[in-house]
Amino acid sequence: MPETLFSKIIKGEIEADIVYQDDQCLAFKDLYPKAPLHVLVVPKKTIAMLADTTEQDKPLLGHLLSVGTKIAKDAGYADAFRVVINNGAGGGQSVFHLHLHILGGRNVKWAAIE
Ligand code: 5GP
Repeated sequence: MPETLFSKIIKGEIEADIVYQDDQCLAFKDLYPKAPLHVLVVPKKTIAMLADTTEQDKPLLGHLLSVGTKIAKDAGYADAFRVVINNGAGGGQSVFHLHLHILGGRNVKWAAIE
């Protein structure tokens, strides 16, 4: 797998504003936030995109959702946040290391966040 921006952040080679980490994932603020809360939850395991996950990754995917939910709730957005996963270039993905966008604090409309 080629190195990505996010694998470099995981290794500490590029700085990021980290809000949470554990043995399975890292969460940090998006550098170009689309909402007052915009955190990226990234697995430490190298997986390019959601479509590359397997049965084996089910617990990890559940963990990423759980961590993202806690981040949104802790930020005060328990009833007003959005989780986005862009999959592949055609799905709007620009960094090819799986990540969840956790967005809160603006009135998001279905199928459009801008
Ligand atoms: P994607 O488009 O792949 O779903 O999301 C990639 C996200 O990474 C974008 O929301 C973009 O703003 C964010 N991003 C791009 N470069 C950097 C960076 O250097 N640091 C951080 N923290 N986020 C970045």
